[in-house]
Amino acid sequence: MNNHQIPRAVQWFVSSPQYTLLKTWGSSIYQEEEGIEAFVSLFPDRYSANDLAENSKRYNLENAYSCVKDYFSRQYGYQLSSELISNFNRMLNSLQNSGEEKKFIYMDELLQLSIIYFLTTMFIWDDQKEDDRAYGICFKHILGLMNQACIFGDPPSDRMYKEILSLLNGDTHIVDLAESCFWTIITFTLAHEAAHEYMGVMKKLEQKKTLNKVKEEFAADGIAYDMVLRNIMGEGNTPFHLENFTYLAPMMYMDFFDLYYYTDRVLYKKYVMMGDHPTPTDRKNALFKIVQDDKYDFDTEDGNDLYNCFLNSYDLYKDELLLKEQRGKLKAATFTERRNRMDE
Ligand SMILES: [Zn+2]
Repeated sequence: MNNHQIPRAVQWFVSSPQYTLLKTWGSSIYQEEEGIEAFVSLFPDRYSANDLAENSKRYNLENAYSCVKDYFSRQYGYQLSSELISNFNRMLNSLQNSGEEKKFIYMDELLQLSIIYFLTTMFIWDDQKEDDRAYGICFKHILGLMNQACIFGDPPSDRMYKEILSLLNGDTHIVDLAESCFWTIITFTLAHEAAHEYMGVMKKLEQKKTLNKVKEEFAADGIAYDMVLRNIMGEGNTPFHLENFTYLAPMMYMDFFDLYYYTDRVLYKKYVMMGDHPTPTDRKNALFKIVQDDKYDFDTEDGNDLYNCFLNSYDLYKDELLLKEQRGKLKAATFTERRNRMDE
């Protein structure tokens, strides 16, 4: 038998398990050095490259996941076994999988970069809403983020990053607010996925009937939010503490998805089918109920103020998008053919 008679592409005749797929597909677009360089040149008097490099050793996905592991072992006496994987696969998603091959939690880099970009722009918008130029730029960036990144999976361009960061005018306060909320959202999301592992194992042990999917999503949010609120109150020995004023950041996360679906409806008349997931609004309302419990006791004033600022931008975006749509001013930003191809 010569070589040509032996099959040479057998690997493509089996369906790839999800773990291998997510671990090996896509590539990372994480650029630590470039990010440090950009910030040193943007805020020369404020940050040194060394300080920024030190901070990224401390604030990273692995350490956020350590906080989550620490919480599960303290609160439930349970050691999480999911491996954490993160890559760029153009999916606005995180997930937990307990398949045959291996337990893992996957968080796409697209989700991470979209959240930090979103928060930064929303806070700048509220801060500079009286300035017509800044107002227009912020609207354009939230629209661009929702339309290009969330719907189509294209990260913002270099030019977009430069434009939004230049609006900061050296104001590091907004960066700090956005980053603090970002880490709360990341930790919340990892804890939500970890809760799926935990609940899955418990169900097997107790031979309980499976919760229905919607109930399981609410339960995972409940565990994740408990983790965040306890961290805020200073419980646990974690690599980093989440700030008081970020306690409503998980609500901003729900609003982020809400604006994404809203944009899809306005531009493309698409209605996202939630399937077995509750809507972002239902999840947000459930989170508000949790935080009212007396066992969570900390100062909420700054957090409420920050969420109100966020909601100002949220309302501005919704109104502005609809108004522009009615006036036919969104044609250049509407890629209907490309959007339709995604549903095929
Ligand atoms: Zn879930």
